[in-house]
Amino acid sequence: MQNQAFRPETRVVRRRDAPALREHRADLCVVGAGISGVSAAIEGARLGRNVILIDGLPALGGQAVHSIIGMIVGLFGNGPNGKQLTHGIADDLLRDLGSTGDLEVRMGGVSPNAFYNEVALGRWVERKILELKITPLVGAILRHVHLERRRVAALELATRYGDVVVRAAGFVDATGDAALVWQAGLDCREPAEGVIYGSQMMVIENFDDAHRPTREEISARIRDRGEHYGMTRRDGFAMSLPGGHTAIVNMTHVENPLDPFGASQKGIEGKEQADRTMVFLRSEFPEAFGAASVRAYGLPGIRQTRWIVGSHHLTVEEVRQGVKFADAIARTAWPLEQHHHAEGYVWEPFAEDHVHYVPFGSLTPPGADNLVAAGRCIDGDATALSSVRVMGPCIAMGAAAAHALDLAGTGSVHQIDPAALRRRIRANIED
Ligand SMILES: Cc1cc2nc3c(=O)[nH]c(=O)nc-3n(C[C@H](O)[C@H](O)[C@H](O)COP(=O)(O)OP(=O)(O)OC[C@H]3O[C@@H](n4cnc5c(N)ncnc54)[C@H](O)[C@@H]3O)c2cc1C
Repeated sequence: MQNQAFRPETRVVRRRDAPALREHRADLCVVGAGISGVSAAIEGARLGRNVILIDGLPALGGQAVHSIIGMIVGLFGNGPNGKQLTHGIADDLLRDLGSTGDLEVRMGGVSPNAFYNEVALGRWVERKILELKITPLVGAILRHVHLERRRVAALELATRYGDVVVRAAGFVDATGDAALVWQAGLDCREPAEGVIYGSQMMVIENFDDAHRPTREEISARIRDRGEHYGMTRRDGFAMSLPGGHTAIVNMTHVENPLDPFGASQKGIEGKEQADRTMVFLRSEFPEAFGAASVRAYGLPGIRQTRWIVGSHHLTVEEVRQGVKFADAIARTAWPLEQHHHAEGYVWEPFAEDHVHYVPFGSLTPPGADNLVAAGRCIDGDATALSSVRVMGPCIAMGAAAAHALDLAGTGSVHQIDPAALRRRIRANIED
């Protein structure tokens, strides 16, 4: 049969000497499409703003999707009846993914948590971006930030299809590594000493959930036998995901250096650790994991690398005391969860009635008027951040960043009316 549509002719093309930069203008430019950036972009679009959402990865969703985190924690208060502390896109996710069986709220640790199918979350994000007419720009790495008279004027980004310039009235740094604030030449923080470990997550299949050991049983066995298997970390867990056919395994500790060669090397070493974990699980718990295999490795899971210096430095004392700041924009009850030892993490849970808050000042670099950070790169000490960087409060921070920039307009986020911001995000700080 003849193919009428197919034309075998070609055309010859050659790169011009100076290819034109693609230029894009928006009201709101969000860099980083993890859970905090997605929240900021959706909130901005719902405010009627023209939004662009940029990420260096070739797909949206950040660590929540591509590092396969598997559960949204810090969204509910402590205890089996912990109340929901964050709304906005959290309500949409609970409703939409819950209705298709891709998200289940169940007890995990100290509070109810939302266990989700990461593939479904990724598609949910993409559908929302299309529905709300947000411009996606993926595979775009930030190369240069133009900061002029305290305002971010433009970003230069490199993509595999050519360079792009983005101009906007307001910018959100939701990159997790404070990439925008760093490139703007503003102050950032890094750990003064030591390492904050990330983890190589993986999804496994063909396990028997009925015989799956508890977190405590797994950790006890790793402590006894982990050395035999060459395991770095001596604790961790395997939790089944909605549907019961797959489970996430979080049992590794991997460094996340800010050096490009080191980061590349450590990414592979993380998978080696994950493979040793599989051998351990299969051998030590054959009833549950004897036939299990790795279905997917996440991209390197990064807890903390570099973060901003903001107008407020959130301290662990403020977290422990549950200080309710006048400019509070997010809250959580999640424990302090420090990953600064290769062998395991230090866990400090709070009482059932405890809640702590994130002030807007921790999101705002003092040297810029139209730039707000959101997510795991806001300002705090490393212990305070070990709690407030989880996804529940990240969603609230993204929403607050979008509202603050909307209120600031062509003015400064440092001069917006705190009461006006509070009114807009009240559901995330009041019952
Ligand atoms: C192993 C591990 C387990 C965790 N477990 C849980 C858990 O069970 N529950 C929970 O709620 N939280 C958990 N956390 C914490 C939580 O997942 C993260 O803190 C949260 O997802 C961070 O979201 P984010 O939007 O701030 O950043 P990210 O999800 O890291 O998104 C940042 C995005 O910015 C992009 N980006 C970075 N630099 C650039 C650049 N220069 N140019 C362009 N794009 C850039 C990245 O590609 C990325 O997509 C865990 C974290 C880790 C690492």
